[in-house]
Amino acid sequence: MDQKEVCPLCGGIAVLVEAPNTLRMGDRTVTFTDLFYRCDRCDEGYFNGGMMDDSLRRATAVIRAEDGLLAPDEIVALRKKYGLTQAELERLIGAGAKTVVRWERGTVAQNKTADTLLRVLLDHPGVVAGLKKQNGLVKPGRRPASAAGTRKPKSAAAAAK
Ligand SMILES: [Zn+2]
Repeated sequence: MDQKEVCPLCGGIAVLVEAPNTLRMGDRTVTFTDLFYRCDRCDEGYFNGGMMDDSLRRATAVIRAEDGLLAPDEIVALRKKYGLTQAELERLIGAGAKTVVRWERGTVAQNKTADTLLRVLLDHPGVVAGLKKQNGLVKPGRRPASAAGTRKPKSAAAAAK
């Protein structure tokens, strides 16, 4: 932990430090151990590069732990279980664009209502199937084996290639 760089604010020496940070997320304030540069001269703390996302991940991890929310990798697993892209899962549950992307990156924590919904989807494939239909997310070309026999020989031969 001896990384140093020139402070972009005053030209002093900034050192990478591990220290408590407080972030306001929605209607709550989260305090957690964070990693950031702090300047010896002007005492300013700041992030650079991807450090801001890492900081958000640490903060949301606290919220997830406090509220018992699904972790990002659990949301990925849920989505893959049903063969959905991030955009498709957003459409399925009526979430805004990039919502699932942010949950999976860990930079935003789903609220409890969304978490409950995700758990319902996880445990009830029938609900997912119904929502897929409702939202036009049923993929073509995934018919049961019995339907394949009704195809013309030409397309069957093409499929066999
Ligand atoms: Zn400085």
